[in-house]
Amino acid sequence: MAGIVLDGKALAKHIEATLSERVQCFKDLSRGVAPLLATILVGDDPASATYVRMKRNACRRVGMGSSRIELAHETTTEELLAHIERLNRDPEVHGILLQHPVPSHIDERRCFDAICVEKDVDGVTCHGFGRMVMGAEAYGSATPAGIMRLLEHYNIPIVGKHAVVVGRSPILGKPLAMMLLNAHATVTICHSRTQNLPALVQAAEIVVGAVGRPEFIEGAWIADGAVVIDAGYHPGGVGDVELSAVVDRCMAYTPVPGGVGPMTIVTLLTQTLAAAETMCLLTR
Ligand code: NAP
Repeated sequence: MAGIVLDGKALAKHIEATLSERVQCFKDLSRGVAPLLATILVGDDPASATYVRMKRNACRRVGMGSSRIELAHETTTEELLAHIERLNRDPEVHGILLQHPVPSHIDERRCFDAICVEKDVDGVTCHGFGRMVMGAEAYGSATPAGIMRLLEHYNIPIVGKHAVVVGRSPILGKPLAMMLLNAHATVTICHSRTQNLPALVQAAEIVVGAVGRPEFIEGAWIADGAVVIDAGYHPGGVGDVELSAVVDRCMAYTPVPGGVGPMTIVTLLTQTLAAAETMCLLTR
């Protein structure tokens, strides 16, 4: 039987409609001030430029504001930090998005961690990560938080399930593994030095592909009835999982495109609005 499609595109559209109403309410209460996401793009990577543009377009669709800082590839860590510190101090900015990856000569971790936790709406700081892991209030990393919302929307059982997350990056694999753990899954985290990956994936009831290699996780590794989350997106419209080989025998799966990607963006918007609401409440 064909697996349930975890339709991130449709859910994101539905959430955007709710957000538009909440944004309008916020503007009414704050005399026209709109929640504002400040974006920072460093260098000339076309994919990163596209992601930032998509995020700014989404802000516009729900009536939120966005500001844009575009910096040359040669920008230094100190220069980038100065921009972040200015945005931290700006009371009109509610959320800060530093698009990953920055050029390799920049200390990305230092720059992420310079974002004040109240404006860390993309969930990239160590502070926010630590709070999330401990179950304290924090904006989760946008892609994993979007995946969790998708699973929740479709009532996918997580408690006691064995989840295998392939990938341990700070923005995706690691925070997602912690979110699944907090939701009471039993979690195995795999990475480039993991041995016997196919057998580990075979044992999974929830499989997450967060590797960054097209169709790296083979369909034959995945057990019948598993839930398959594919975070990847590559030219040719394929993800990190060989989805075509499992769609007919898994319990549920995220399509590529239209699964995880739209949930990332709508989560960023949701968290920016929440940050604006919190800041305005505190200053009232
Ligand atoms: P990343 O930083 O490059 O991390 C890739 C991870 O995969 C690393 O932890 C790496 O292990 C692991 N890996 C590499 N080769 C492996 C192998 N042979 N066996 C097992 N694990 C292996 O990538 P990322 O930023 O997390 O992104 C992962 C994927 O998600 C990409 O396809 C990306 O495009 C996608 N993504 C999508 C969104 C979205 O909004 N849709 C957002 C972010 C990312 P090591 O740690 O040992 O190196």
